[in-house]
Amino acid sequence: ALFVLGSFVVACSATVERLPRAGESLQAQAFLVEPGGKGLNLAVGARRLGATVDGLLAIGEDVLSALAEPALIRAGLPPGMLRRFPGPTGAGIGFTDAAGENCLAVHPGANARLGAGAVREVAGRIAAAALVLAQFEAGDEAVAETFRIARGAGARTLLNPSPFRLPGPEILRETRILVVNAVEAAAFAAALGLPVPEAEATAFAAFARALHARGPDLVVVTLGAGGAVAFPAGGGAQVQPAFPVAAVDTLGAGDAFTAGLAVGLAEGRPLPECLRIAAACGACVVRRAGVFDALPERTAVEAMLAG
Ligand code: ADP
Repeated sequence: ALFVLGSFVVACSATVERLPRAGESLQAQAFLVEPGGKGLNLAVGARRLGATVDGLLAIGEDVLSALAEPALIRAGLPPGMLRRFPGPTGAGIGFTDAAGENCLAVHPGANARLGAGAVREVAGRIAAAALVLAQFEAGDEAVAETFRIARGAGARTLLNPSPFRLPGPEILRETRILVVNAVEAAAFAAALGLPVPEAEATAFAAFARALHARGPDLVVVTLGAGGAVAFPAGGGAQVQPAFPVAAVDTLGAGDAFTAGLAVGLAEGRPLPECLRIAAACGACVVRRAGVFDALPERTAVEAMLAG
C-alpha cells in the first residue's frame, strides 16, 4: 500500500485571451473549479492505477472544504484521509491565456496547519505502507515526521520537493527516491553550490551523484516534453523519452508521472518499466484540460504503453 502526505487545494482557473494587467477586469472564456493539490493528485493518480492508497490531507472549515470528501469517494479513496483544521481550505487561482501561458497564486490554508502532531496521530497507518510519498505543499515538520515514521517501519520514501525549497539534511537523508522537474533540479543544484545543469538528460549526472551522497538512492529528473532521466545510485543513467501526444494543458504532468513511478516501484517492477509507466501517465494528463479528471485509469495507461 501507498501513503500520501497532504496537501488538498481547491484549484480555480480562468481561461482568458490574454493575462489581465494590473487594475484590469477581463471576461474569461471558461472557468474551472476542481479539487487538487499535489497530495490529492498523487493519491488519486496512484489509486486510478489500482494501488491501495491511504494518506493525510488537511482541509479547513469553509465552503471549499465540502469538495474534499465527494472527491475522495469518487476516486475510491478513504474519506479517513481528511483532517479538519480551523480556518480556510487551501485554494489556488490561476489564469491561462490563449498561448498556454499562465500565472497562479496559491494560499496554503489548512495545509500550513498540518504539523508533526497530526502526523503522529496516523503513525500506524504510515507504518503500514510499503511506500510513503511527500511533497512540499506540506511543511518541513510534517514531512520529516512522516519520513521518520516510514523509515522506522522499513518503508521506502519518495519526495517531490515542489513547490521548491531546499530540503533539510534530515529530510534528504530519509528520502530514498527523489523526483524533481528541470526547474527544481536547477534550483536544487544552485542551492547546493553545484553547476546548474542544462536541460540535457546527461547533464544532471553530477547533480544526481551529489544527492546520492546525501540520501536518495534514486534520483529522477523530469524534462516535460523532453521526457525524464533516472539515476540509480551506483548505476548508469536511464533515459525515458516522452510519449508523443498533443499537449492541451501540462498542469499535473509531474504529479501523474510521480504517481505512476510510485505505483510501478511498489509493484516491484524494474526501473525502466516504472519509468515507462510514469511517462505514459504524464502523457495522458497533458492530453486533457485540468488534472483531477485527467489523471488516467490503468486501462488508459496500458493503451498508451501499447502505442
Ligand atoms: P512538472 O509538471 O512537475 O513540471 P514535467 O513538465 O517535467 O513535470 O512533466 C512530467 C512528465 O510528464 C515528463 O517527464 C513527461 O514524461 C510527461 N510530459 C510532460 N509534458 C509532456 C508533453 N508535452 N508530452 C508528453 N509527455 C509530457
